[in-house]
Amino acid sequence: MIEQLYKTGDLPDNELKKLIENNEYGQELYKKADNVRRKYYGTDVYIRGLIEFTNYCKNDCYYCGIRKSNTIAERYRLGKEEILSCCKNGYELGFRTFVLQGGEDTYFSNELVSCIVSEIKKLYPDCAITLSLGERPYNDYKAWFNAGADRYLLRHETANDKHYRKLHPDSMSLENRKNCLWNLKKIGYQTGSGFMTGSPYQTTENIIEDLRFLQELKPDMIGIGPYISHQNTPFGNNKNGDLHLCLRLLAILRLMFPKALIPATTALGTIDPKGRELGLMAGANIVMPNLSPVKVRKQYQIYDNKICTDEEAAESRVYLEKKVLSAGYKIVTHIGHVCLNEHFLQP
Ligand code: SF4
Repeated sequence: MIEQLYKTGDLPDNELKKLIENNEYGQELYKKADNVRRKYYGTDVYIRGLIEFTNYCKNDCYYCGIRKSNTIAERYRLGKEEILSCCKNGYELGFRTFVLQGGEDTYFSNELVSCIVSEIKKLYPDCAITLSLGERPYNDYKAWFNAGADRYLLRHETANDKHYRKLHPDSMSLENRKNCLWNLKKIGYQTGSGFMTGSPYQTTENIIEDLRFLQELKPDMIGIGPYISHQNTPFGNNKNGDLHLCLRLLAILRLMFPKALIPATTALGTIDPKGRELGLMAGANIVMPNLSPVKVRKQYQIYDNKICTDEEAAESRVYLEKKVLSAGYKIVTHIGHVCLNEHFLQP
């Protein structure tokens, strides 16, 4: 099965199910996934400087610590000058991609985000800008792209409508989420999607639907991370996702999408101290250290016990560099676009 996945980039559902559910396939999957990542990216690991600039959100996803109904969350917004100062710091530390991430905060209008993006692009024309601001109208996405944004991250979270409804209130819909993703692709963004592993009510069949949706979407970036509960949410007592399930899925994604940009996420490092190294060894090729000011880091608490909330950006850069080296790879200060050739290995 693994050989077939390696050679063709695909498997029938019943075989994917076996790989997803059985840990005995783990080591072989990781080996093959590493093989594929080395073929396209060598030992390079791209770094992205994450700037979490607002934790206000109009949505109420049941799993998220900064959902609007969490009245205990202390809210913050960074101003344009603060965001630019994070970029300056990041640029001096060798970052060539800035990821502007936030809740769905309507304070950041089409015009304001356009102004911030064009200012960053003017100051750092050799850098890529990734936005992750949730679901917005087509015209907002288009204006930000025209202002200089290169990439957009919007995880679909689950491609199954029934499952989506169990994780989100009625005001949100999977249909709209998918439409946003198609709009981003149409506009020309390098588009990223992804899902949580081990989220409440998730079945293996749901995960297979996620993989099938990604095959249809053909994203440039795929982010997955284990579900981790947050105490002030309706799912506060649910159990966290399993490290090994997430690692197996990272490897399966690398084999299905050989050239995709796949992060070893902070959530992976939160459920296990070696999670990010293991993620890299299972096929991931991106790490995203935090460039947000330390004073607001703890407030962007989308799940409990999130790591890296105390270190300055420079410290976390050095710390991650060591971790990446210990896993057998090296951080590069490249802009780190996706390999632009054919997306899939030909059978
Ligand atoms: S997951 Fe995103 S959209 Fe949902 S509540 Fe959290 S920040 Fe808002």
